[in-house]
Amino acid sequence: MNAVNAGQPLSVAKPKGAGSEPDLMEIVRSAEVVPLVPDSDLFETEPDTPLYEARRKIYPQRVSGTYRRIKWIVLLVTLGIYYMLPFVRWDRGPNAPSQAVLIDFPARRFYFFFIEIWPQEIYYLTGLLILAAMALFLMNAVAGRIWCGYLCPQTVWTDLFQAVERLTEGDRREHLLRDRGPWTMDRVARIVAKHFLWLVIAWWTGGAWVLYFADAPTLVRELATGEASVVAYAWIGILTFTTYALAGHMREQVCLYMCPWPRIQAALTDEYALNVTYRYDRGEPRESIKKSIALRQKGLSAGDCIDCQQCVHVCPTGIDIRGGANLGCIQCGLCIDACDSVMAKIGRPARLIAYDTDVNIRRRSEGKAPFFRIVRGRTLVYVGMIAIVGAVMLYALTTRQNVGLNVIHDRNPLFVRLSDGAIRNAYTVRLINKRTEAREFTFEVENLPGPMVDIAGIPVQENGSRLIEVGPDQTREIRVLVTYRKSLPASSVPIGFVIKDHQTGEAAEAVDNFRGP
Ligand code: SF4
Ligand code: SF4
Repeated sequence: MNAVNAGQPLSVAKPKGAGSEPDLMEIVRSAEVVPLVPDSDLFETEPDTPLYEARRKIYPQRVSGTYRRIKWIVLLVTLGIYYMLPFVRWDRGPNAPSQAVLIDFPARRFYFFFIEIWPQEIYYLTGLLILAAMALFLMNAVAGRIWCGYLCPQTVWTDLFQAVERLTEGDRREHLLRDRGPWTMDRVARIVAKHFLWLVIAWWTGGAWVLYFADAPTLVRELATGEASVVAYAWIGILTFTTYALAGHMREQVCLYMCPWPRIQAALTDEYALNVTYRYDRGEPRESIKKSIALRQKGLSAGDCIDCQQCVHVCPTGIDIRGGANLGCIQCGLCIDACDSVMAKIGRPARLIAYDTDVNIRRRSEGKAPFFRIVRGRTLVYVGMIAIVGAVMLYALTTRQNVGLNVIHDRNPLFVRLSDGAIRNAYTVRLINKRTEAREFTFEVENLPGPMVDIAGIPVQENGSRLIEVGPDQTREIRVLVTYRKSLPASSVPIGFVIKDHQTGEAAEAVDNFRGP
C-alpha cells in the first residue's frame, strides 16, 4: 500500500526486475513512501518552555576602588557637560545667536563654538559620524567595551539611578531583605522617594535636551512662565519618560536585548584586545577560604578564588565573569574592584579579575610572560582613518568660504526662442551669505560672448552692473534670464555664474549650461 506522509523524507522501493532499465512511471507507481521517523515520535514535543525569561531583578552592591572612582569622575564630567553646555555663550557678532552649541531648526543651522554648519554642509555631519565610528572601533580594539562600561549614556544614567536607589532603599542586602519583607510605611516612603528622585533627574534630563534647540536662558524663562511652545513641553515629557523607563526600569535589559553594539563589538574584537577577564589560571580550583587555607597548609595547590560571589553581587548586569566572555558584560571593571578588596582581605595578590587579553591567558597557562600589543594592524587602520578624515574635515573648515552660489536651470522649457530669433534660458539662482553682516554682490555671466542678462527685481546700475543685497547669515533666491542673439556653437554651452562681494572681493562661482536647439 502506498502511504504518503507529508513533510517526511521519502524512501523509494526498488522496482521489480532490477537490472533492466525501469520505466519512470513504473517507479512512480511502485513507490512506497515510508516515514523514516516512527509516527509515535512525530508528535512528541518538548515540555512547555517559555520563549521569554522573566527578568531577574538585580541588586548591585556598593563597591569602591579604582574603577568605581573612574566611573564617578566620568559620570560627573559627562553629566556636567550635558546639563551645563546649553548655557555656555559664544560671541558670533550682532546678528548671530550667542549660544555655543545650538541646533537652530527654524534657521536650519548647527552652531558648535566657532563652527557654523549650513544644510548644504551636511557632509561635516557625515565626517563626524565616521570619526565617531572609528573612535569606537579603536576603543574596542584597545580596551574592549570601554564605551559601554564608562561613557555610554545608558550606563551613565543607569549608574546615577542605581546610586539613588541605594540612597533611598539601601545597599544590596538591606534592599533584598526589605523587598522580601512585608509592606510597611517605611518601605512605601522609600520607594516613593526613589521614584520621585528618578523622575526629577529624568525631567531635568529632558529639560536639558530641549535647551540645545533654542536660546537656553530664554527657553528656561518661557518654560517657567508657561510661555514655551507645546513642542518643547511635549519633548520634555517624552524624554522624561524614556529616561525614567530606560535608566530606572529597563537598565541592563537595554544592553542585553536592545543595543546592537555588543554583537558588533563581539565581531570586531580580537585576542589582543584588553577585556575584563577572570584569570582562571590563577583562580581555579576555587575553594572556600577555609579549604584553600587548609590545602595550602598541606602544601597542596588551591586557586585564589574563594567563591565569595562579591564579583557577581556588584555587577550591574548580574553576570558571573568567572564563566568567561559574556555579551552581558559591559566591562565596567566593578568586579575588579570587588575582587581586589577580597584579595586584600585574604592576603592574596590583587587583579585576580583584571583587564587582560586572551593571548595572555594562553601564554600564562603555557608558562610564558604576558605581553600587550596595542600597535597592530587594526589599530593602525583605525588611527589612520581618524587622521585622514580629521585632516579632511579640518582642511574643509579652515578653507570654508563665507559666500556661496547655487544655480538650477529651468527644466520646462529648457529654452525659448524669441520672436527676433534670440534664445533665452531661465535659471533660479541662490546667493549665500554666511557672514553676520549684510553684503552686496555683483553678478556676472561668463563664457558666453555678449549675453543679455535680466534679473527680476534687480535694477541695472549706471555703470551697467547689478548689486544684489543678501542679509546677514541668509540666502537670497533670484530669477535670472539669459538671452543670446548669436548662433550657438552647440546645443548646450557651459556657462559660468559669478558673484563677487564688491567690497571684499570675495567671490563664488557656479557652472551650468546654456541650451539651444
Ligand atoms: S570576588 Fe574574586 S574571589 Fe570572590 S568569587 Fe569573585 S573572583 Fe572569586
Ligand atoms: S562582569 Fe564585571 S566588568 Fe562585566 S559588567 Fe559585570 S561588573 Fe562590569
